Amino acid sequence: MKAAVLHKPGELVVEEVPQPTPGPNEVILKVEACGLCGTDLKLFEGHYTANCPVIIGHEMGGRIVEIGEEVKGLTVGDKVVVDPNESCGACDWCRSGYPTYCEDLAAYGVLRDGGFAEYCKVGAKGTYLMPEKLSVKAATFTEPVSCAVHAIDQAAPQLGQTAVIIGGGSMGQILLQLLRRAGAARVILLSRSQWKLDLGLQRGATDVINAQDQDPVAAVMDMTNGQGADLVIEAVGSIPTVEQGVGMLKKHGKLVIFGFSPEGAEARIVPFDILRRELTIIASWVNPYTFPRALQVLLTEQVEVESLISEELPLDNISEALQHMAEKPDGFMKALINP
Ligand SMILES: [Zn+2]
Ligand SMILES: [Zn+2]
Repeated sequence: MKAAVLHKPGELVVEEVPQPTPGPNEVILKVEACGLCGTDLKLFEGHYTANCPVIIGHEMGGRIVEIGEEVKGLTVGDKVVVDPNESCGACDWCRSGYPTYCEDLAAYGVLRDGGFAEYCKVGAKGTYLMPEKLSVKAATFTEPVSCAVHAIDQAAPQLGQTAVIIGGGSMGQILLQLLRRAGAARVILLSRSQWKLDLGLQRGATDVINAQDQDPVAAVMDMTNGQGADLVIEAVGSIPTVEQGVGMLKKHGKLVIFGFSPEGAEARIVPFDILRRELTIIASWVNPYTFPRALQVLLTEQVEVESLISEELPLDNISEALQHMAEKPDGFMKALINP
């Protein structure tokens, strides 16, 4: 079968690999669509470590074509989505309610072969039936939405609060819709792209700041009578935006680190400032037990995602999609790969 294999950072090759066969508790998925996400770019650039050589891609949906002999509740022909972060269920972390800290996490598309391939082998326990009403396109967003649901849980917005989302990419656009749903009165979107800011306004952002021509911290202070924001979600994954996030918080405010900053990169914080303003700095790491809720969020259209897909490409053109992801030309939000 054809698959996109990351041999090492910077070297992604679409090549022929053996077709997988299922173990007793596994299924084989014929991948219909798999979203390309910022994480894939970070793996490609070497800012986040993959278990190379590995088939990348973790936002996949498709149809089951083969099942292992011990699989229950799934059959050949079922339309499914896959939680790429499959935990073991048996280690201390899993048994303590923290599956994403699992000692034996099977992160498809990072540590194990993922969805940028014609077929993908996945564990049955992380495989979810796709609701009939949901399109495959929308269903490929289950993983990103499940991560956003966890971020909203971590942010725990209260009715009437003012929130800032740093980053107008597809995650920022999803987060802003969910923050409004979850009760934030004001959601300020911050991006360097006017095009993304305009899109955010259509999706419910109450205010926007173009970070290209304004100082983000000063602009947020200006918009909030010098007080700052109750909540900031950093959805870029860069050091300057993390530092800005702390700077624009209101006293007693909370920063949620959601973007993947380069591994090992350090930010400057001032402990006395955090103490004096009683700030909370919290993180949101992937999607612990949020997959079922993400499916409901998509099914009931609490979030609109399909218009975030700006291009659909065959597997052979995956490098083109990665390049768009890196250059972020106006009009590009997210690519869907159709293996
Ligand atoms: Zn992703
Ligand atoms: Zn575990």
